[in-house]
Amino acid sequence: MDRDQLRRRLEFYRDLGIKTLYRRESALATAPELLSAPEPAPEPTPVMIPLPSLEPAGDTLEKIREDSGECTRCRLHEQRHKIVFGSGNERAKLVFVGEGPGADEDEQGLPFVGRAGQLLTQMIENTARKEGIQLLRPDVYICNVVKCRPPENRTPQPDEMEICGQFLYRQLQAIRPTALCALGSTAAKALLNTKDGVTKLRGRWHKWRDIPLMVTYHPSYLLRPYNQHAKHEAWEDLKTVLHYVYD
Ligand code: URA
Repeated sequence: MDRDQLRRRLEFYRDLGIKTLYRRESALATAPELLSAPEPAPEPTPVMIPLPSLEPAGDTLEKIREDSGECTRCRLHEQRHKIVFGSGNERAKLVFVGEGPGADEDEQGLPFVGRAGQLLTQMIENTARKEGIQLLRPDVYICNVVKCRPPENRTPQPDEMEICGQFLYRQLQAIRPTALCALGSTAAKALLNTKDGVTKLRGRWHKWRDIPLMVTYHPSYLLRPYNQHAKHEAWEDLKTVLHYVYD
């Protein structure tokens, strides 16, 4: 098994919730003469190998931001101006996850502050008000799959999402909200490890770890004039999420 296969195997175990592995020294490796010996080797004592934890104990958003530092772990750092870590309430019951910063976000270092961000704010606050739920944007937490702007707003590449994924994972584990909302297919793919698109995934509950996750359209998609039909569906998705979390 090479390094990559071993890493994938360990990640698979981690996803199953297995935190500790036991390693047995190979009897044949330690005693090659056994190859011809008919007697079975005595059971070697298992060696306990704790898997490194992805979420250090007592993790906080501040600590995660500190650990990410002035990140140069992937090529996205080359053209970014500011890292867009996330913003909102550290104790939010609801977290929105977008794809990656655009030009306005890259300039300000804050997520969803451009046109798509204004629409997201309206969607959250207007839907809440119409549904009789007291909620403003600062009450939720908003972040992205990647923390640096992809050049020309291209879709983040799988290795960029994987590298940045450790910070998203820790953010979500540190907040542990009542529900998550993935905005668009990149966030849905990153969190659900699926190839399905938004049309197929939206409107129903999924799970990230044990946290209910709703998928809906990305606000940038809803801004395009020919996608107006999808607005109604996005509002329905948001209503479902808000009632689930705040009723
Ligand atoms: N689009 C995103 O996915 N995230 C942002 O922060 C802004 C636009």
